[in-house]
Amino acid sequence: MVHSRARVGVAAPPVCVEVHLSGGLPATHIVGLPEAAVRESRDRVRAAILCANFDYPARRITINLAPADLPKDGSRFDLPIALGILAASGQIDAAVLPEYEFFGELGLAGELRAVDGILPAALAASNSGRKLIVPADNGAEAALAGGLQVFTAESLLEVCAALCGNRPLATAEKVISERSMSPDMADVRGQANARRALEVAAAGGHHLLMTGPPGSGKTLLATRLVGLLPDASESEALQVAAIASVSGHGLNPAQWRQRPYRSPHHTASAVALVGGGSPPRPGEISLAHHGVLFLDELPEWNRHALEVLREPLESGVVTISRAGRSAEFPAAFQLVAAMNPCPCGWAGDPSGRCLCGRETVRRYRARISGPLLDRIDLHIDIPRVSAPELRSDAPAGESSDSIRARVERARLHQHARAGKLNAVLSQSETLRDCRLDIEGQNLLERAVECLQLSARSMYRVMRVARTIADLAGEPNIRTMHLSEALSYRRFDRQQAGEA
Ligand SMILES: [Zn+2]
Repeated sequence: MVHSRARVGVAAPPVCVEVHLSGGLPATHIVGLPEAAVRESRDRVRAAILCANFDYPARRITINLAPADLPKDGSRFDLPIALGILAASGQIDAAVLPEYEFFGELGLAGELRAVDGILPAALAASNSGRKLIVPADNGAEAALAGGLQVFTAESLLEVCAALCGNRPLATAEKVISERSMSPDMADVRGQANARRALEVAAAGGHHLLMTGPPGSGKTLLATRLVGLLPDASESEALQVAAIASVSGHGLNPAQWRQRPYRSPHHTASAVALVGGGSPPRPGEISLAHHGVLFLDELPEWNRHALEVLREPLESGVVTISRAGRSAEFPAAFQLVAAMNPCPCGWAGDPSGRCLCGRETVRRYRARISGPLLDRIDLHIDIPRVSAPELRSDAPAGESSDSIRARVERARLHQHARAGKLNAVLSQSETLRDCRLDIEGQNLLERAVECLQLSARSMYRVMRVARTIADLAGEPNIRTMHLSEALSYRRFDRQQAGEA
């Protein structure tokens, strides 16, 4: 029996490869793989065995991949299947096989080729107590899992030589992560309000929507949010890397500690955004797990694609169902969205160059559904930066390192109090942790009335106020914190104004 693992979302359930030889006409049957995968795998395994100067048994060969009902993409099982055949025919010693788990696609000349999803398999294998043998190109990725021995091989022949005790395999070591180099806030001139909102967003994990004309620096600001977030923890980084590993985009082991920043184009399909396909692969929202997802030109996005965002924005996971199979991917991303104030982009600009009618502007903004807006805690305007602020000798902004120090302190308060960030407090936790004094309660009640805040929005305002107080190191939310939080409900004010 040879151990390997399938790939289901970011999980890696165990698969056993059992091989039986019997009399009868020579033929090879593989049970538990889809038809097309069987044919291809059979040809590769046979060619690789012959190329390594072993005999391919001229008997009836039955290969069983158990459990049968797991979805299995074929090529990763080539190596375990080949070893199973060699052991069953007495060409290698079967006794040592159960100590290992094997992964790898075989080339026709017996060379081992890298496969997707090795990190989730290695993380699961480290709990089984077995050692891992993987293709050389998968070694660095497998070693990230830690807590298990990872051996790498270039070919089937190398694996067989090592299992027979002739020549040990190379071991893979965990790569030390390169320091991430994200863009710095020091490059942002002016934009005091936006800088502050970005700091609040980073501190409490709040989603952010920026509205402003073209060239006002929305993208510049969005790319800088990652640099304001604390470094990912080891377990967060492993989750992020596991998603990259199964995505088919590949994983760079040298950068495995970096929080992701994803900025898909608005023409991206719903599948590209949230995930899908067969077997299911993660979309942009999962590739942005524990990092930042930037959606520019929000009203231009396919409405259906945005609707699908609502669930993961609440729960931090997305379930992808396809052809009766479903896979769950983590998607706890921080959303930064951006839009122009109107179709031409210049509504509200002092130059007066916007000629869009009121109704046109209203329709444009209505393209973003209320329930989606409701889930975004911070709404801010990004005006054009004035010429003096853009001069090359204008003072540089505060650096990301310095802002991040405040963000980290504010997050410590949150973790000590609730064990989580303010943005993900439940309703009852909000009532418990975001208490207002009498003055604050009166202010909030007036705001709920004037701005016609939904209950959901009201709780969001309270959580943002909590974050602002945490940034100030204050145990209680004061009126100034609440007022600032209310200033980030731009859309509520607008809608109330129109009503
Ligand atoms: Zn306009």
